[in-house]
Amino acid sequence: MLNHRPLQLAISVTRSRAFFCQLRWGGRRTCPRCSHRQLYRLSSDQFKCRACRYKFGEFTGTYMSRVRIPLEVVAHLLYLFVLGVPAYRVRWYVPINLTTVERTFRLFRQALYDRAAQKLEALRLSGELELDEAMFGGHRKGKRGWGAHGKHIVFGIYQRALQVVTFPVPDRQWQTLHPLIERHTERGSVYYTDEFQGYVALELRGKHERVTHKRDEYVRAGVHLNGIEGFWSFAKTWLYHYRGVPREYFPLYLKESEFRFNHRHEDLFPLLARSLVQLVPDH
Ligand SMILES: [Zn+2]
Repeated sequence: MLNHRPLQLAISVTRSRAFFCQLRWGGRRTCPRCSHRQLYRLSSDQFKCRACRYKFGEFTGTYMSRVRIPLEVVAHLLYLFVLGVPAYRVRWYVPINLTTVERTFRLFRQALYDRAAQKLEALRLSGELELDEAMFGGHRKGKRGWGAHGKHIVFGIYQRALQVVTFPVPDRQWQTLHPLIERHTERGSVYYTDEFQGYVALELRGKHERVTHKRDEYVRAGVHLNGIEGFWSFAKTWLYHYRGVPREYFPLYLKESEFRFNHRHEDLFPLLARSLVQLVPDH
């Protein structure tokens, strides 16, 4: 039975090690190069493949191999990250410096981001889809923080009762949005959008329902954008409490919000821990 009670892991090297190794190998170590199952054990955490002679450690090639702090501290940081404690507040709980905390949190986000990007390759949303765009960061204009660096436009597709997928976009032109809709949604879906002209050719792909915001319009059953609007408000609230997102890392923070929203009824700790022991893809 996998013990993933974070506070128990955070105080025990042995438990953290058992936890992360179990996630990494699922009980059976194989060579990361050739998948061979017969290995020499060189030391407590070093192995050598009998077939290809490759030498590796428990976490070689994974995100975990990029952190230079003990496993139980990683478990503690992961726990604080899951709870949403910003990096600058962590110093009161974990005896490592702010730069290391920030670097580790960024690695957590990168692992989530890469995993989402891999899934996106094959992702086709279908059924009832709400399409919308939102601006991020504009309201803090002139102040310290991300507002000072300008706004971000985000395009989102919400598949009702399932998940949201977001894309940072340079503008909201049809030429920009259409390839994303084409690549990531099934033909024949029901598309709910606002009255924005950028969505004008959607009826060629499926059923297109426009939500009008005129005051005297009664809401037709099911024709609304409540799902995607719920996500926008979730993401903005979430990002706001970080007090400033560096512009170059905005896509990572956006994916983090998406992940938190899509898994809001689950325990994020084991999910995130699992993505940390995945192999880092070659770019
Ligand atoms: Zn091998």
